Amino acid sequence: MVKAFTREDHEARRFDVRNLRVMQASIAAERTWLVFFLVSNFLMSFGLFLVWYFGGRQIVNQELTLGALTAFISYLWMVYQPLRWFGDFYSFMVRAFAGAERIFEVIDAPPEPFENPDAAPLPTMKGKVIFEDVAFGYDVGKPVLEGINFEVEPGEMIGLVGHSGAGKSTIINLIFRFYDATRGSIRVDDRDLRDIRLEDLRRHIGMVAQQTLLFSGTVLENIAYGHPTASAREIVEATRAANAHEFIIRLPDGYDSQVGENGDRLSGGEKQRIAIARAILQNPRILILDEATSSLDTATEQRIQEAVSHLVKGRTTFAIAHRLSTLRSADRLLVMDRGQIVEIGNHTDLLARRGHFYQLVQTHQKTVSSIDMEERKAPT
Ligand code: ADP
Repeated sequence: MVKAFTREDHEARRFDVRNLRVMQASIAAERTWLVFFLVSNFLMSFGLFLVWYFGGRQIVNQELTLGALTAFISYLWMVYQPLRWFGDFYSFMVRAFAGAERIFEVIDAPPEPFENPDAAPLPTMKGKVIFEDVAFGYDVGKPVLEGINFEVEPGEMIGLVGHSGAGKSTIINLIFRFYDATRGSIRVDDRDLRDIRLEDLRRHIGMVAQQTLLFSGTVLENIAYGHPTASAREIVEATRAANAHEFIIRLPDGYDSQVGENGDRLSGGEKQRIAIARAILQNPRILILDEATSSLDTATEQRIQEAVSHLVKGRTTFAIAHRLSTLRSADRLLVMDRGQIVEIGNHTDLLARRGHFYQLVQTHQKTVSSIDMEERKAPT
């Protein structure tokens, strides 16, 4: 980002400012420490001087023996040493507390939802999903979802539509059980999510995300990520269905080609098809599709659409939909606004209703056509 925006100088300056502040703070701390050290040393030495002075006079006046004075002074040292240690100890403790604060921030971070020890295994899943009066907020007192009710039949394709911030991703987070609902219940195959082993639940949910995450390694390793024991035939079947086989065999080392750090040796469209192949191979019952907002060229787009249509077949699918084609092919659309579902229905019905969805599409089309106009106006 920094390089792309040529903000190296700006970032370097920001670093310098921070660095300078750390230096000044360190100097101030050392200075304070030094003053404290000098003063305490001076007081100690001065105290000792007074003891010698008055003790010496008492010896001369024969009110005290030399032995008693020597003993007194060595006792005095016994008190001084721990006092000095307390000084060191205090500064040490202050630093330790600052560190501990950071550690406690991590420890206090909310853990993953607690796994119910009595949760029964769920070896197979049909993919029916029910949300019943679900409410949720990431922070206490700041609800993000309110009164969410819907029922999805196995194999149905649902498009989640709404402005950004409406709560679409939050619904997905709840289905994955990355968070627990604060009210209401979410059920899969008529079982409350909290009564399903997390591992089983997530094994049956697949995801093709907007930002395809690939691990550095070979194409093959990336595709087999969710199903490491898959046979070569299964893998090729999956990549064919994902329209990925052709481009993979054209790579220098075919399936053994390295994808590079985070897959950066592949194009965006190629990465997406690998992600689709990975999902097909994992064969989940519930599928999450987070569509990319950026558009690809028409040919790539078409190949991806085809791959997606193979992928969603027979699976309950939740698509965060941006493409018109997805909106049209979804069985039903859940239209969301500010954490609530405002409309449910298929594309045609919702358009005919001229409600919230109609408004959304209108705004979207206006944006698209104004961009087109801008492009036409732009000098070539
Ligand atoms: P959408 O996917 O429709 O764009 P989100 O579900 O991501 O919307 O967000 C819904 C609301 O929840 C937004 O107001 C957002 O700021 C808030 N939100 C999302 N993720 C978090 C989080 N991890 N912590 C706190 N608030 C969040």
